Amino acid sequence: MSSVVLPKNGPEQILCLSDEASGLSGFIVVHSTRLGPAAGGCRLWRYATDADAVADALRLAEGMTYKNALAGLPFGGGKAVIRMPAGHFDRAALFRAFGRAINDLGGDYITAEDVGTSVEDMVNVAHETRFVAGLPQTTPKAGGDPSYWTARGVFQAMTVALERRLGLKLAGATVAVQGLGNVGWRLCQLLFAAGARLLVSEIRPDVAAKAVELFGATILSECELIQSHVHVFAPCALGGVINSTSIPLLNAKIVCGAANNQLASSFDGSALANRGILYAPDFLVNAGGIINVAGECFGWPQQEVRERVDLIGIRLAQVLDVADAKKSAPHEAAISVADSIIKNTARQELGSGESDLAPGQRSGVA
Ligand code: NAD
Repeated sequence: MSSVVLPKNGPEQILCLSDEASGLSGFIVVHSTRLGPAAGGCRLWRYATDADAVADALRLAEGMTYKNALAGLPFGGGKAVIRMPAGHFDRAALFRAFGRAINDLGGDYITAEDVGTSVEDMVNVAHETRFVAGLPQTTPKAGGDPSYWTARGVFQAMTVALERRLGLKLAGATVAVQGLGNVGWRLCQLLFAAGARLLVSEIRPDVAAKAVELFGATILSECELIQSHVHVFAPCALGGVINSTSIPLLNAKIVCGAANNQLASSFDGSALANRGILYAPDFLVNAGGIINVAGECFGWPQQEVRERVDLIGIRLAQVLDVADAKKSAPHEAAISVADSIIKNTARQELGSGESDLAPGQRSGVA
């Protein structure tokens, strides 16, 4: 493993992960520890090159810095990406090697699940380090898979965005959900229960078929979904879906979903605003999962997680007020609010009493 300390304003640290025995290869990016340890999930994905992997980690880690600040959490931002090994590999050994690398960072980075990783993977990480969350929930306190909380926060934000942009409630609204994974599926459950009509796109046909059966959803191709005449387009797969090709095709009035880095570039956020499409910034609305991770780290009761996640809609309204006042696009307003929180908040030192950062130890996994 090799680590580089980077200049001011960029990420604070990039750790190159390399362990021949397990096949571990990837990066941990510590973007900022200004507000606390850099917290953000671990993605296991097929990247063609190291350059692609590090670029993804850099953008995701920066987004975590803004996300954690806007969510009022005492966390900086970081992210890990692991390159999917070719062929058969020992998954437990891979995540244990990853855990050792996290441990070497001495608490600068805390991991949890993201795309391609599971609670079981985090249990393997926890054999090697205590700087991991998203572990099985063994008490009434916060913990476990964060996806439900992410979906709940997106749902809250969508409710506010619909009311604000269109004066509508979710009951009777039409929502196009791209990706029915951990978060997208739970979001569909919430939307269906609220009376929304669902259009969905999912590359796993069996999962898409289940959405038809359970939610009466209509299945569309990715291209059809992007062009569908809906109230809300909810990207819940991978990033970059809002780009110069897709923006002219969009017929939604609102974009509000869970995927990280939905905008291919900052310019695309402005292009959406110019088309009159309200963009609910991803790093604001998908904070539910990291709020649950914080709850697990700090031993909050589940009720506190719920209350904090349910503030996401209000926080979106506040950021949209700033955007209106400054005549800026919502993602720019959200970054400027996050920057001012980061500038004006002192780092809280962790490690005593209530804030004892030892989720692995508490759940008995470490
Ligand atoms: P996941 O891997 O469980 O789900 C992704 C789903 O999208 C899968 O079902 C996959 O088959 C599908 N998919 C992939 N490409 C697609 C395409 N082109 N068209 C349609 N479907 C496609 O991941 P997840 O945990 O649900 O996360 C989804 C997104 O939300 C990611 O961008 C992730 O970074 C972000 N996010 C997740 C959490 C969380 O709590 N899990 C928190 C914050 C942000």
